[in-house]
Amino acid sequence: MILPQKHSATGTTIFTVMSALAQQCNAINLSQGFPDFPIDEKLGALLFEATQQGFNQYAPMPGLPQLRQAISNDFAKRYGLSINPDTEITITPGATYAIYTAFTALLEAGDEVIVLEPAYDSYIPNIETNGAKAIPVPLQAPDFSVDWERVKNAISKKTKAIIVNTPHNPTGAIWTKEDWDILADIIRNTNIVVLSDEVYEQLVFDGKQHISVLQHEELRKRSFVLYSFGKVFHNTGWKMGYCIAPPDYTIAFRRIHQFLCFAVNTPAQYALAQYLSQPALPDVSGMMQQKRDYFLSLLKDTPFTIHEPAAGSYFQTVSYANISSQPDMEFTQWLTKEHGVATIPISAFYSNKKDDKLIRFCFAKKESTLQDAMDRLRKL
Ligand code: PMP
Ligand code: GLN
Repeated sequence: MILPQKHSATGTTIFTVMSALAQQCNAINLSQGFPDFPIDEKLGALLFEATQQGFNQYAPMPGLPQLRQAISNDFAKRYGLSINPDTEITITPGATYAIYTAFTALLEAGDEVIVLEPAYDSYIPNIETNGAKAIPVPLQAPDFSVDWERVKNAISKKTKAIIVNTPHNPTGAIWTKEDWDILADIIRNTNIVVLSDEVYEQLVFDGKQHISVLQHEELRKRSFVLYSFGKVFHNTGWKMGYCIAPPDYTIAFRRIHQFLCFAVNTPAQYALAQYLSQPALPDVSGMMQQKRDYFLSLLKDTPFTIHEPAAGSYFQTVSYANISSQPDMEFTQWLTKEHGVATIPISAFYSNKKDDKLIRFCFAKKESTLQDAMDRLRKL
């Protein structure tokens, strides 16, 4: 069979490659981003309850009304925002799907999309599969802030969208209100749409705040905002997420969604709706900050160096320049095979495979896992 060439990416996503290598080498897997500790028993029990209560058939296309209402209540409580559950929220099988669906709702052949790199590896293939072109704009080392002059210069008549990710995978950087204000100034007199990937919104540390595009009155009207339950409730394998967008954008989003997936796993929606409706939810940021701090305290005894602790997400990007001059792809393979710890090379997040001798650790792990991994790396 001759396969059509729909996008420029070749081979297999780095997350599959590194997790498979970790398994093959019996290495500790700090590569792909997923927790290795159990979910709250209550959430598991609710999933079982859903199946017993008869929530086993197709849900409505936009999602179970009680889950959309629970999300709306959650945003009212946490952000003081009013989000209409019927016209602005669509439940999706994860955020990766929601990003693809938003791009597909929006893009036509020949359109351009600005992508700030390093970037999550699905963005550019999604853009190109839709016949559009990604315009990569590098973030500025060492703090991975946005170079606004470069963003301005990247805009053309063909620019249809910009995709933004805060807290940021893989660097852990977060956007400030000022960043959103500058973006608003830049795109004010254009038709550019914002895709805001906020899957790590509840993982922000050191008393800092996540600033959502939804809190920016002007930008909110022109944004698709994508979320993942997997990152909040430690259940990445459930592949549950949602899209918040203004009513006209939501109509466009559902036009694609209805023929791509139609409806999302009903028992999982029931369980998440009940769980989210509890008066108090666990403090995910506090728990993850403890893990970050523990990871960093162990990292001090290794030759790896950091520019600064991750402000958010569950990733820490570190330099191995003190250890090796190998390209990062080779270094991560070597580290997995020879030292039994799997990580992600940052060049995988650049379309030009830029190699700054940086790798990413996922610290969303049990303390014992982090300790075992760092015991191995201390010997480097
Ligand atoms: N965006 C970013 C930046 C991510 O790190 C992830 C993690 N998988 C996703 C989107 C996708 O989330 P999901 O697992 O819900 O598809
Ligand atoms: N978001 C996770 C990461 O960056 C995993 C994504 C995936 O496996 N596709 O590691």
